[in-house]
Amino acid sequence: MSKPVLGIIGGGQLGSMLAMAAKKLEVKTIIFCDDINAPAQKYSNEFICGKYDNKEKINQFIKKVDIITFEFENIPYKTLNEINKIKPVLPKPTVNKIIQHRLTEKDFLNKLNIKTTEYILIKNKSAISSSKNLLPGLLKTTTLGYDGKGQYKIESINDLKFLNINFSKEYILEKLVKLKKEISIIITRFANNKYEVYEPIENTHEEQILKHSKIPADISEINFNKSKEWAIKIAKNLDYIGTLCVEFFIDGNDNLYVNEIAPRVHNSGHLTIDAYNVSQFENHIRAVCDLQKVKTKRLYAAKMKNLIGNDIFIYKNKKFKKNEFFYDYFKKEIKDKRKMGHLTTIFIK
Ligand code: ADP
Ligand code: MG
Repeated sequence: MSKPVLGIIGGGQLGSMLAMAAKKLEVKTIIFCDDINAPAQKYSNEFICGKYDNKEKINQFIKKVDIITFEFENIPYKTLNEINKIKPVLPKPTVNKIIQHRLTEKDFLNKLNIKTTEYILIKNKSAISSSKNLLPGLLKTTTLGYDGKGQYKIESINDLKFLNINFSKEYILEKLVKLKKEISIIITRFANNKYEVYEPIENTHEEQILKHSKIPADISEINFNKSKEWAIKIAKNLDYIGTLCVEFFIDGNDNLYVNEIAPRVHNSGHLTIDAYNVSQFENHIRAVCDLQKVKTKRLYAAKMKNLIGNDIFIYKNKKFKKNEFFYDYFKKEIKDKRKMGHLTTIFIK
């Protein structure tokens, strides 16, 4: 069977790494992105630049590909659904519909008996005043948040005087968990309900942005197993095809909560490139293109450091040890808090 041409919506670092993995598998890729400088165009066979609501450009893209996937989950559901009527979008758009909205995402998890933080939908200021039981808490926009954007920490009702919250948007208020640890599970689900599940990854954040990831995670055996079980349950109930990430919190009493789901390859899984025989990106391509599933095995222990903003300068001219792997995302503009690259170090386990 000849291999499909894969369309990827989004051309940042995740798109780049997907395109590289596809190249290894001899799958042709076409990137669609609204940024003329999108780094992923370096690695793909073709690049189409257009706004995500430009029907003409989107149609041009659809005509050229067999299957479509994406590197970020916030493409409007309507757009994905329209595309899906013509060529298959994987994972399917209904997954995005659930996950794009923090309330439907959390409701979905709780219906599966998967524990999340306590939460409530907030439409106005007075709704916060009547939810004191959730304070201290985090107020998060229901849609379009990432890397901590659109979040406000509220210690007490008094804080509302100082925060300039725009109530033309909807929010959820989430009780703050006293975090002992954060972990994530990267899982790939293939057709016929087959899975490859990577072991839990331990993550640390700085200013709500992922800074370090490592495997093995220093967690209890119970949470090691439970996080994997929940990730499988989530992927199965979403009828998911491709790679997915589940982010978890662990509190001081070792309780496990799901924080959120990312319906795509994920930053915490970058270490799978060097620490596993098959990376999260390769597994995603294998799953969405319906290629053979390869038993995924960890080869090394590893830690990954995100290079954010100006961090990248130090690394661009650095000499690396044999167990260090530096990735430059070749972004044209360096911005504060922007993910510019990462460094993975592997160790004999
Ligand atoms: P984003 O969609 O921006 O990634 P998250 O909901 O994952 O937003 O929040 C980013 C980070 O903020 C989390 O990884 C965690 O470190 C912290 N955080 C978010 N919600 C909570 C919470 N309810 N309790 C404690 N920490 C939280
Ligand atoms: Mg997150």
